[in-house]
Amino acid sequence: MWRRWQAWVLLLPLLLIMTTAAVWNLCKSRTFQVAGVLVARVETEAPMVALTFDDGPNANALAALLPILAAHGVQATFFVTGAELERHPELGQQLLAAGHELGNHSFSHQRMVFKSAAFVENEIERTDALIRAAGAEGEILFRPPYGAKGITLPRYLERTGRRTIMWDVEPDSKRGKTATSERITETTLAETRPGSIILLHVMYPSRQASLAAVPRIIEGLKARGYNFVTVSALLDSTSPTKAQPSAMPEA
Ligand SMILES: [Zn+2]
Repeated sequence: MWRRWQAWVLLLPLLLIMTTAAVWNLCKSRTFQVAGVLVARVETEAPMVALTFDDGPNANALAALLPILAAHGVQATFFVTGAELERHPELGQQLLAAGHELGNHSFSHQRMVFKSAAFVENEIERTDALIRAAGAEGEILFRPPYGAKGITLPRYLERTGRRTIMWDVEPDSKRGKTATSERITETTLAETRPGSIILLHVMYPSRQASLAAVPRIIEGLKARGYNFVTVSALLDSTSPTKAQPSAMPEA
């Protein structure tokens, strides 16, 4: 039957594309990974939220940001890369001294999908060691670059008892560098609810709009009664139910 054969020739590439797209979406899902504990927000009725800043640490950005956070009495969580922390260990110390939390955002900020177990281990352990050297104590939370997780990474995180921290509010990710400060603020105020984890990118010069949005976000959320805590404090506030393991059998 040449017609059936012809149909398969047309269908197979389509199926392949659809499967690839499905796997790709699963790999960067905010709320799912194949193993280990993933947190995108916590279930609480208390008006608590966590501000999280990815990438860096960058000296110029922190010089602008830290006085804003201090003026509002806000403690935040900084998911830093090992490479940048290695170049500027003093910034890590400065963040901890100001009461902020340091999280692990990998060493070299590569998509950690289709990487070897040795690569994953090196990226995570090297960065944790630098965070410890800066003075961090207790659990170090992890956030994957680009939110991409794959299979090897979650398995390693699970085996070593690390928790993956995602987010449920990301006002500057989708529009990226074209998002305005007003838009970033509006989106954050509209989407934040008790237990939210807010992701912002302020570390590089292209992210001025996000930086300018920070005081507006803080003032807007405070006016709605919210308190700002680190991600660890947010997790601790809901200890009995804080860990929701992803439900998927080990393959
Ligand atoms: Zn990042």
